Amino acid sequence: MSARVLLLGGTGDALRIARALGPAHVYSLAGLGRVPADLPCAVRVGGFGGADGLARYLADEQIALVLDATHPYAAQISANAARACAQARVPYWALRRAPWQPQPDDDWRMVDDWTGVTQAIAPYARVLFTSGREPLAHLDEVPAHQHWTVRCLDAHPGHARAQVIDARGPFTHEGERTLFAAGRFDVIVSKNSGGAATEAKLAVARERGLPVVMMRRPTLPPAQREFASVQDALDALANLNQRNIDV
Ligand code: NAP
Repeated sequence: MSARVLLLGGTGDALRIARALGPAHVYSLAGLGRVPADLPCAVRVGGFGGADGLARYLADEQIALVLDATHPYAAQISANAARACAQARVPYWALRRAPWQPQPDDDWRMVDDWTGVTQAIAPYARVLFTSGREPLAHLDEVPAHQHWTVRCLDAHPGHARAQVIDARGPFTHEGERTLFAAGRFDVIVSKNSGGAATEAKLAVARERGLPVVMMRRPTLPPAQREFASVQDALDALANLNQRNIDV
């Protein structure tokens, strides 16, 4: 792989790709989470300043290809990347993890946003949020009849009617069973992230007959090439070498 690649990351999948990139390539993080210190490629942290800023970065750094391996709910950076690539005439590739599909015994309640989440959980008392940090901004709004457990990547002292679990996947089936039994949840809130690392919660919700309030995926821009797995993306990057990145 000779041409310079910008890998947009912030996910476990992106980190696996970054581990395979040599020193000419750049792994980019928003700066919200941990920054790995042991990567063979260069690492940059922080926003680019919108699509225009990213287009300038692509030109300044002579990036020949962008691979978007951000989270499926990180819609802004993906939209910016698609626009910047079009502007800078750089190919835009994306790793697009397939969403989970409901199984026959699943009880998914589809919602679009935070308002939809609060409406869907209203009848329930013990709520497990596995949808990121958004509930942390609403801990003062926990209704009197509810207790929230929020599992996310951020450490937080919690609240009188909320517990915050600072944990990073992958999560095992047994671990999720233990958590669900201890928490006595009667509903869970999830994004449809796809992939195996955080899927066990859905199996345990199914076992326990719990409803899952599922946040719909945002619309993402089309990419010139889309990969369903890390391996497919790595294979395509490896092929660049042979094709001399005439993409
Ligand atoms: P977002 O709303 O799509 O992006 C917000 C802004 O953050 C972007 O406009 C960009 O700033 C900057 N940004 C995002 N990802 C970046 C990257 N990889 N490198 C450089 N700048 C980046 O993103 P988000 O939902 O806040 O997620 C932030 C990061 O966390 C993403 O990288 C994503 O992969 C990761 N993540 C998100 C979720 C989720 O549920 N949303 C879950 C797990 C991990 P500028 O406009 O200034 O360039």
